[in-house]
Amino acid sequence: MARIAIMSCSNVKNEFSCPAVGCFKSFNDRKGMFECYKDDQESQIVGFSTCAGCPTLYAPEKILSKVKPLVEISKADTIHFSSCMVKLCPFVQKYKSVINATYPNVELVMGTDEATPLEAMKIMLKNLLTDNSHGITEEFKRNMPSD
Ligand code: SF4
Repeated sequence: MARIAIMSCSNVKNEFSCPAVGCFKSFNDRKGMFECYKDDQESQIVGFSTCAGCPTLYAPEKILSKVKPLVEISKADTIHFSSCMVKLCPFVQKYKSVINATYPNVELVMGTDEATPLEAMKIMLKNLLTDNSHGITEEFKRNMPSD
C-alpha cells in the first residue's frame, strides 16, 4: 500500500486554478503513471502540493518547504510530480536530486496522467501566461473615473 502525494507546478495550479482533475482521475482509474497501483486498491492519496515557485538557478532546495509537510505530516512515502511539471519545468531534475538526497526513503515518480499531449499543454500555458486582456489595468480603466 502506497501513501501517495502529488506535487504540481505552481504556475499551473495557482495562477490557472487547475483543479488537477487529470491527476485525480488517473489515480482513481489507475491509469497513466498510476497504473502500477492497479492491483493495489489500498493505496491512497494523502497529500497534494505545488512547487514553491521559481527557485532561481541557485536554490532548488526551496522545494523542500513543500515536500516536508507531505512527508512529515501526511506521511507520504511516494511523491508523483504532476505530468505538467515533468513536461514543462526546467528545474524538475534538480528538484528530484534535492528530494532524493533529503528523503532517500521517499520514492519519486515522474508523472501523473498522460491525458494532455505536450503540444496542447504548451499552447495552453503560453496563452494563459500571456493573456493581458483582463486584469487590474482593464478593471481600473472600466471602474475608476478618469481625470
Ligand atoms: S519552478 Fe517549475 S514547477 Fe514551479 S512554477 Fe516554475 S515551471 Fe512550474
